[in-house]
Amino acid sequence: MSDRLTRVLALVRRHVPDVRLVHKHEVAWMRVFGRLIRPVVPDFDTHYTTVLGRTVYLPRPPEQMPERVLAATLCHELVHQLDQRRYGLLFYASYAWALPAGRTMRAYWERRAYAVDLLFAYDRGGDPELDNVARRLADLFSGPGYFFMWAGRASAAAYLRPVVDAVRDGSLAEQQPYAEILAVWRGDQA
Ligand SMILES: [Zn+2]
Repeated sequence: MSDRLTRVLALVRRHVPDVRLVHKHEVAWMRVFGRLIRPVVPDFDTHYTTVLGRTVYLPRPPEQMPERVLAATLCHELVHQLDQRRYGLLFYASYAWALPAGRTMRAYWERRAYAVDLLFAYDRGGDPELDNVARRLADLFSGPGYFFMWAGRASAAAYLRPVVDAVRDGSLAEQQPYAEILAVWRGDQA
């Protein structure tokens, strides 16, 4: 196992000691849910990770995922796990509320978690890579993957912009949980 994945798993276990990584195909209700939403999100089964409390439902068996992808996924999901613990029912209710579309709280929670993906992009490739990932996220936020959680591509880009700016100017990297996650990602000494 790569050093990075080892560090990320240790970080997740510090916050969620009983974390479980499961392949979502192994879980009956996940298969049913995947079938129900397939008309809107055809690649839910194969591309999306879902997290509920201590359990991370992965689109592939964890041992078959590229370690770098698994490590990045777990960092994103850790933000959700911390938010779920802190906000409890409010998180779950507001995440699912007001399906399918428009301006949703789902986008608020996902923006907090995708901030991790933006941080890693900037760390990996500076401005061009940050802009690249920001563009992909604008498509993702406005498209079917999360039930059109922030409709309109331009408005999704505008919604993401404060986070993109905070990554670029370094201020996000000073806030928790992002500072801790980034240090673990990079392998910085504590
Ligand atoms: Zn997410």
